[in-house]
Amino acid sequence: MDKKRIRNFSIIAHIDHGKSTLADRILEMTKTVEKREMQEQLLDSMDIERERGITIKLNSVQLEYKAKDGETYTFHLIDTPGHVDFSYEVSRSLAACEGAILVVDATQGVEAQTLANVYLALDNDLEIIPVINKMDLPSADVDRTKEEIENTIGLETSDAPLISAKTGLNVEDVLEAIVAKIPYPQDADDEAPLRALIFDSYYDKYLGVVMSIRIKQGTIKVGDKIRLMAAGVEHEVTEVGVKTPKILKTEKLEAGEVGWIAASIKTIKDINVGDTITNALNPAKEPLPGYKKMKPMVYCGIYPMDTNKYQDFKEALEKIELSDSSLVYEPETSQALGFGFRCGFLGLLHMEVIQERLEREYNLALIATAPSVIYKVYLTDKTMIEIDNPAMMPDPQKVDHIEEPFVNVKIMTPKEYVGDLMNLCQQKLGVYKDLEYVDDQRMILIYDMPLAEIIFDFFNKLKSISKGYASFEYELIGYRESNLVKMDILLNGDMVDAFSMIVNKQFAYHRGAALTKKLKELIPRQNFEVPIQAAIGNKILARETIKAYRKDVIWKLHAADISRKKKLFEKQKEGKKRMKEIGSVEVPQEAFIAVLKLD
Ligand code: GDP
Ligand code: MG
Repeated sequence: MDKKRIRNFSIIAHIDHGKSTLADRILEMTKTVEKREMQEQLLDSMDIERERGITIKLNSVQLEYKAKDGETYTFHLIDTPGHVDFSYEVSRSLAACEGAILVVDATQGVEAQTLANVYLALDNDLEIIPVINKMDLPSADVDRTKEEIENTIGLETSDAPLISAKTGLNVEDVLEAIVAKIPYPQDADDEAPLRALIFDSYYDKYLGVVMSIRIKQGTIKVGDKIRLMAAGVEHEVTEVGVKTPKILKTEKLEAGEVGWIAASIKTIKDINVGDTITNALNPAKEPLPGYKKMKPMVYCGIYPMDTNKYQDFKEALEKIELSDSSLVYEPETSQALGFGFRCGFLGLLHMEVIQERLEREYNLALIATAPSVIYKVYLTDKTMIEIDNPAMMPDPQKVDHIEEPFVNVKIMTPKEYVGDLMNLCQQKLGVYKDLEYVDDQRMILIYDMPLAEIIFDFFNKLKSISKGYASFEYELIGYRESNLVKMDILLNGDMVDAFSMIVNKQFAYHRGAALTKKLKELIPRQNFEVPIQAAIGNKILARETIKAYRKDVIWKLHAADISRKKKLFEKQKEGKKRMKEIGSVEVPQEAFIAVLKLD
């Protein structure tokens, strides 16, 4: 294949600016996908992506484009997620590309993740093509959007395509810009020793581990003996191919191409995204630069509802880790929940998505404990321990002081919401840093804030205050001392470790009262009275009581009302599945989730 006719690129943008819709139009206009097979956000292939309308996984596809110069080009397009929790997917995609299309919604302008993704693209030395989208909407403001792109990013916008990804308006200009502006893979030499970057992977029942790769140099074909350079293991290639977006087998992949390979690999541990594949008989001297490992920001314990499913759960985690190497986990036990894993995530959305994927893709019923950041606990004996699980907090007498992670938060917002957003930041114990103008409409608010307050419902509040217009990004700046305490919940006098949380003392009373109230609503009546208490050490902060039930509701029904009775039984059975026996009390799964949503 003529390397000069290859273009590898990603589409990047803030969430909802139209990346996936643009990818749809490109697939359609290049006839990669037949009209009748077309569906919206085609590359969002996971159920959970389609339901939530967001992209979670990167997805790559090969397509052919006949350009106005008469030549046919091979494009490899990688669609990426926009949400901050999945930026690891973005950075991995970018390492496989020479260019990026930056989509900016003309009704919104530049937002926090627009900037964050541009920085990732610049880190990878990519050519960035700005594209202004949603031109079909009356509120599209081209001048302002261009001005924002030039002011905040410094990209030239005079010939930026003005498109509607929805109607297809001017999308051809994007295809032509890809041909004209994105460099072809310069150092792609088919004869050099093989070096291929693994940028994604997943597990297939029949093929074993399937790896998405970008071949930098050399060629790979069926039957080749390959070596994974970091893992140091060797395998024989059983299949290679590309995605169109259907899985298509080919004979080989050459330098400059993006595709997939399988090698009957069943040992998942061997595969690390970021590793370099070389040829075992003619190995490369140096691996490619890999990826920076991401450090999880949020931890929680996850447990199978049914303790017999521990082994299944463990295997599911291993498989999910293949397609999401930003997930970390290690075994832990809980008095209340039994054997499970402490898992680390890049953010709350990431945590929700992983839990949901585990439940759906592996048919597991799971319980997650309240999320926590990593605290540094300085003890009176002058030692320090790191804690990511409130249940591990030492006796208060032994604690000298506690430090928690702080982040620098940048909120981009239309200026009319600045006042209310400053109040929100204040409530969240933010320390004001700065206020900058983007242009005459929009501002950037800068605060230092405890990370724990961000993971605790900050995003939802920000969105509701700003009617969806504000966006934010954050970056870890270090640890600072805070006045923190461990709050426990006692059910019928027994502490439930899964409910324990570390909170700022200032919020302890309020959260304790709200949580006991919430639990009272969620935990069904038992045949005895159940007190629910929130406590710091021996000090009770709040108390609610669930009264004992008098008699089974069933008996209230009229004898003839069989079908209703049946339904009620079904419902109770369904409910049972999602109940966890804690001490002598049955607790529904919603109660564990309520802890996260509390305010
Ligand atoms: P992504 O999060 O960047 O992948 O964004 P999507 O492609 O999922 O689009 C987000 C929403 O914007 C969807 O409801 C799309 O239908 C809509 N959308 C995308 N492009 C356009 C456009 O050009 N015009 C209009 N009116 N809506 C668009
Ligand atoms: Mg998308």
